Amino acid sequence: MDTLDLEIDYYKNQLTELILPATLMDCFEMFRRSELRKAAQAFNEKELSWLLLTMNEFRGADDRKEGFDLLFDPLMYTVDHPAWSAAPGTSIELPILNSALYEMTGRGTNFRVIADSQIAVLSVLTDGYPDEAIIGLAEMGAAALADSGAKIANRKSAIIYLALNASTRLEDYWAEDNSLWRKAGSRLVTMPDVVAELKALMIRNGRGDEAIVESDLTCYTEEEVRCFAFHASKFLLSRKSKHLALCGRCQERVQGWIDWAHGAEDRARRNGNDSMTQA
Ligand SMILES: [Zn+2]
Repeated sequence: MDTLDLEIDYYKNQLTELILPATLMDCFEMFRRSELRKAAQAFNEKELSWLLLTMNEFRGADDRKEGFDLLFDPLMYTVDHPAWSAAPGTSIELPILNSALYEMTGRGTNFRVIADSQIAVLSVLTDGYPDEAIIGLAEMGAAALADSGAKIANRKSAIIYLALNASTRLEDYWAEDNSLWRKAGSRLVTMPDVVAELKALMIRNGRGDEAIVESDLTCYTEEEVRCFAFHASKFLLSRKSKHLALCGRCQERVQGWIDWAHGAEDRARRNGNDSMTQA
């Protein structure tokens, strides 16, 4: 990544932290990214690039990841997850991690054969790194995956953890047949109330023109959402416009009504055309 990309990335990260999460999945994303940032403090920028390079070498040329949040990505296995549309909350049920599945799976199974070969590959690739670096990297993985039960005690367990949870080959296996994961059940992640934390932070950091008070952080009623979606002037005069800039959930609610209205227009136009062709 060059400097401009890095700056844009930084700006985007800053922006997401200035908007209240819209869904339970947004809360989880915010939580795991902040855990990852804390764990990454064990390294400097240069060390982080080397570690990412090594992990990308492990994944293969076609499956490189731009950052550790994408390298250790629990959301990859959650395409149809209900949390993508659920209201914000503090606990989320997610598919089991490969590292936990490994402990439950017998030797000789397909999963185990692939997993063991991946562990062997990563052991060789990480040969030159000191133990603390490998353990620190595995701890970053556990943070990004919000895995509070990760068993990372030494170099060996760290390599196993990294190989299993960042493996392209296991991802491919899952994409082909996820029955093993589904049978193994799920894991429950509990997290702090990130919405409340962020609201407190917004109120604390706002100054002068940018001051934010409690009422700026109150979500619109259903009636207000509908009214604001269709009457820009009422919205601008309502003294509640600041909330829309701060709240991802209300942004989606207003957008939902606007999309609905466009859909209704299209449907009406299509019905009109149909009756004309029929005539
Ligand atoms: Zn809101």
